[in-house]
Amino acid sequence: MSHDFVYTANPARILFGPGSLTRIADEVRLLGCPRALVLSTHSRREDALRLNAQLGELGAGVFSGAVMHTPVHVTEQAMAAFEDAAADCVVALGGGSTIGLGKAIAYRNDAPQLVVATTYAGSEVTPILGQTENGLKSTVKGAAILPEVVIYDPELTLGLPVTTSVTSGLNAMAHAVEGLYAKDRNPLTGLMAMEGLRSLKQALPSIVERPQDLQARSDALYGAWLCGTVLGSVGMALHHKLCHTLGGSFDLPHAETHAILLPHTAAYNAEAAAEVLAPAASLFGGELGGGLHDFAGSLGAPLALEALGLRESDLDEAADLAASNPYWNPRPIERDAIRELLQRAWSGDRPR
Ligand code: NAD
Repeated sequence: MSHDFVYTANPARILFGPGSLTRIADEVRLLGCPRALVLSTHSRREDALRLNAQLGELGAGVFSGAVMHTPVHVTEQAMAAFEDAAADCVVALGGGSTIGLGKAIAYRNDAPQLVVATTYAGSEVTPILGQTENGLKSTVKGAAILPEVVIYDPELTLGLPVTTSVTSGLNAMAHAVEGLYAKDRNPLTGLMAMEGLRSLKQALPSIVERPQDLQARSDALYGAWLCGTVLGSVGMALHHKLCHTLGGSFDLPHAETHAILLPHTAAYNAEAAAEVLAPAASLFGGELGGGLHDFAGSLGAPLALEALGLRESDLDEAADLAASNPYWNPRPIERDAIRELLQRAWSGDRPR
């Protein structure tokens, strides 16, 4: 790593540890906003209602309509709920979908956000919002989008299903791998990326064996925080662009798509970014792409895009889309090589 860099840190207040959710009311008071609208997905509504009750007079009610990819029509319903409840801040309880909704509200009315993060996707520490309207996904960035306070309470992740834990953990690892070779990387993001990778590599096999292992859950969430912080600090490249394309154009699920593509995108960039990827490669047995593929397989993660419902006949279009918008990547974006990468990822073959 050359010592020639610019580093801009995102402001963050992080409360980490088992039981840290009990401190939420104090945090809402510290933010100076006494009416919090609690957000969740439909399936986590009961948890959101309990949290609203725990907030006592600070709880302004629950909106449990959050869904993946932050559709604008859902945000409009949530904005109406925010106004009806005379709320002045949001508490997002959940993963990237719920956090995205909180960000979308804050983007529109600058409401302070408190996030209780319960997956490993990392959105809670980034100033980035992806939203969809009429089937098109667009991304916006800005200070109002970055949540003010994040609570990481590993106890809340004990019930995250093992399959979701695995794909979400691999999603987090993808932020770290791309952070290692990011054009605007710096020594601190490199340290966070490696510590995040080590933590998740250690934690995920234990979670598969013992989903209720609080130490493993804590290690995974700690790794997710670090990987998410890397995502929020530096620019991403091929891997995230490819996942964005497949998610947006072919409606593939977020974490699973990241999990399947990561070994292949890492292999694509392995030679061009060999020096900066060396510590990660040695963590995975010397060969990053193949090592990540074997690791994901050992955890029972999906390995083939075919299993997500992508048709083989879509691969040409996916490769065209991925190569059509030029962006920086350690290795140039070569359309035919991307097509080959997609074929292997579609079949679930080990990357070359
Ligand atoms: P998610 O938020 O959709 O959660 C997946 C499912 O797990 C949901 O049904 C949710 O209710 C459930 N769930 C969450 N926590 C749980 C828990 N502890 N126990 C049991 N069930 C739980 O999935 P995700 O992968 O966290 O987020 C994906 C979304 O986030 C995508 O829309 C993606 O684009 C976005 N995202 C954005 C950023 C960013 O920086 N802007 C970063 C990562 C992801």
